[in-house]
Amino acid sequence: MAAVAGCGGSAGGGAVPSTARAGASAATDRGGPRPPAVPAVAAAPAVPAVLPGPARAEEETSGEAVARRAEAARAALETARRWGLARLPLPAPQPPAGRPELRAAQGVKLADGLPPVVYRVPTEQPIVFLTVDDGAEKDPEFSRMAAELGIPLSTFVADYLARSDYGYFRRLAEQGDAVNNHTINHRNLKVLDYATQRDEICRQQDQLEGQIGSRPRLFRPPYGEYNEDTLRAAGSCGIEAVPLWNEEAFPDRMEYRYEDQRLHPGDIILTHFRGTDLWPGTMPDLLRKVVDEVTAQGFALARLDDYL
Ligand SMILES: [Zn+2]
Repeated sequence: MAAVAGCGGSAGGGAVPSTARAGASAATDRGGPRPPAVPAVAAAPAVPAVLPGPARAEEETSGEAVARRAEAARAALETARRWGLARLPLPAPQPPAGRPELRAAQGVKLADGLPPVVYRVPTEQPIVFLTVDDGAEKDPEFSRMAAELGIPLSTFVADYLARSDYGYFRRLAEQGDAVNNHTINHRNLKVLDYATQRDEICRQQDQLEGQIGSRPRLFRPPYGEYNEDTLRAAGSCGIEAVPLWNEEAFPDRMEYRYEDQRLHPGDIILTHFRGTDLWPGTMPDLLRKVVDEVTAQGFALARLDDYL
């Protein structure tokens, strides 16, 4: 369906001239799906050889604990190698006990009585967040890869694309990923009146609550296009924050909002549930590209919903 494309076309509503992204847009590697096994997996420097999540190392020194850590490290390397990563992903730090209060900062737009709009989560930690939009391509290999590598996803799902198989998103939620609101019909909300906007957002709140089992706290407007009515409507049906993005990821490249063409602590990365009909690669190719890029720049992928 044509309407799937273009969600990321306007990189986020505003603050940035499109020329800032021009340098990274040339697609040079359209070789299609790559074989899963890549022989050399380099351990990331100065980082314990374990994945985030359950395999996190503990401060134990008994022989048994040492053996357990060695086994976890071996398994992590094996997993990374199997998915073709260039090196081990860096482990995300423990999430904060409670969600930190949002302060005014670069990448945060606060307005009284409205949910905040966030391009970058204020943090000093070397973490970034992966968000996946729309819901057309429901690739079980993608969700399996994310789970095995301990990569947390925040998804933003539009009903008209997801409704053919909400089970896929239910399973993502069961493995700890977040399923958030991206409206019913993926229309440009900015050109709609308040009542229609509210219907697009609130009806998807109800739909996701019924299909997934919990009511989303986060909402992303299609194309990153919104106005004050959008924020008011979203707030009225229980939305607490509106994350947009600073980078957009494709199977063969990342596009950066800022001229320094690199990640910053707290950056939100956008990508899409898309298949090879629209993209030069599979969703596992996409995740491999993201993880390798994030790791190479010294960042870990953390769970957006723990911070917003
Ligand atoms: Zn979208």
